[in-house]
Amino acid sequence: MPNATDSTLNQLAQIVGPTQVLVSGDLSAYELDWRKRSRGKALAVVRPASTAEVAQLVKVCAAAGISIVAQGGNTGLVGGSIPDESGLQVVLNLGRMNTVRSIDAANLTMTVDAGCILQNLQDAAEKAGFLFPLSLAAEGSCTIGGNLATNAGGTQVVRYGNARDLCLGLEVVTAQGDIWHGLSGLRKDNTGYDLRDLFVGSEGTLGIITGATLKLYPMPAASLTAWAAVPSMQHAVTLLGLAHKHLGAGLTGFEVMGQFALSLVAKHYPQQRVPLWQGTPYCVLLENSDHESETHAREQFEKLLETAFEDGCVSDAVVAENLTQARQLWHIRESIPLAQAEEGLNIKHDISIAVSRIPEFVAATDALLGAAIPGVRLVNFGHLGDGNLHYNVQAPAEGDSKVFLHAHEAEVNTIVYDSVAHFEGSISAEHGVGSLKLDKLKHHKSPVALGMMRAIKQALDPQGVMNPGRVVRV
Ligand code: FAD
Ligand code: ZN
Repeated sequence: MPNATDSTLNQLAQIVGPTQVLVSGDLSAYELDWRKRSRGKALAVVRPASTAEVAQLVKVCAAAGISIVAQGGNTGLVGGSIPDESGLQVVLNLGRMNTVRSIDAANLTMTVDAGCILQNLQDAAEKAGFLFPLSLAAEGSCTIGGNLATNAGGTQVVRYGNARDLCLGLEVVTAQGDIWHGLSGLRKDNTGYDLRDLFVGSEGTLGIITGATLKLYPMPAASLTAWAAVPSMQHAVTLLGLAHKHLGAGLTGFEVMGQFALSLVAKHYPQQRVPLWQGTPYCVLLENSDHESETHAREQFEKLLETAFEDGCVSDAVVAENLTQARQLWHIRESIPLAQAEEGLNIKHDISIAVSRIPEFVAATDALLGAAIPGVRLVNFGHLGDGNLHYNVQAPAEGDSKVFLHAHEAEVNTIVYDSVAHFEGSISAEHGVGSLKLDKLKHHKSPVALGMMRAIKQALDPQGVMNPGRVVRV
């Protein structure tokens, strides 16, 4: 006599075929998070090939009282994309749903399956003569469904906005297994509550995103990259103001990198030859995308840097001569998290503060951490153009990083998040809440806001089928 679980697994196998229901063997790719800090245990990993299959799977799971963890590329950084340890959850991996459904050149949109890898979408857009500007270091493996579910940011937000801003419509399988067809591609629609915006950033807790209509942009004629040494964070902020003024909509990237962050790249990847970092507390990476010509882009950059030198907010700078050099500079920036991992376990924060208050925040928080943990090393870098810092904390040079984490993680988080609250910022600008920041949220969101979040969760997923225990506790 088969038990209830076996019977449910059989039903799932009937929907997707037995080879797409994984229950044994090495399931690390689905059960272990990218940072290798949490591991769950799934009842099964199920890999549907269509929206209709997702809808049927959700119906079967809901009827059996089995909860579902939606999963794309499993590159999430807050423990939200893996199952819990119960062995009772189904991981619904959307990797097989990877088709670009259509490109509408006149409407400047692209409609895609949620399991498409981000880089493949950038390539598909480029092949059609357009730009899909969402860009992040995980783009070779993260999926657009995951990007939307986490409202991912990345390096082009200063110009094009985050995943939410790039999304015009969604197709979603609800917690009841119904399909919401919201792929209109409309830029204007004021017929009540914006359901799309509820699902963007919901981290799989309200429904499964199965398709999306995304904005496309004209491909710029030229993109130029510059690397500037700045004497302080305040000077970096002043440079940002100048860049907005001189480049306007051409400013497509503005990243800041602290000296220690760059020293880790120089130490662990010496072949990368990091420029200008030794004599300056911060470097800035700027990108200017121009719709006229490369010459025009270069002239604009030269004017900007001239003014910045005169104002004293840049002490030295290089402009990439060609695409290869530009890619090398971006590669240095993107290597910081990896160099940090080479250096040892660390504590990550993806905070945001109003740009104008960032220098004050950094000075105050550096001082608080230095006083609490002598010798602590701060890996400070990120998307200054969006007021978003990766304000990460590394063990003292002579310390064991495992011991450091065990002894100080809670204390460090409290210091950083309290300081973020003091400066009226957000404890997550990019990675989301997942399970990692769930308990912190109640200290950093008002009871009114949390009450509304709980009401939304209960209204859309009263049975708690969708990624329970993540983002909001009911
Ligand atoms: P997953 O990790 O599989 O899932 C993430 C969350 O979304 C989970 O809660 C999951 O349940 C949910 N989810 C996934 N797919 C769906 C779906 N179809 N429907 C509903 N819910 C779903 N983030 C940034 O914002 N900016 C960055 O610059 C950035 N850089 C990164 C660099 C690296 C090297 C890495 C590893 C991560 C980075 N991230 C960044 C984190 C970011 O959240 C993810 O890379 C990406 O957005 C997640 O996509 P994914 O397909 O891997 O989703
Ligand atoms: Zn980031």
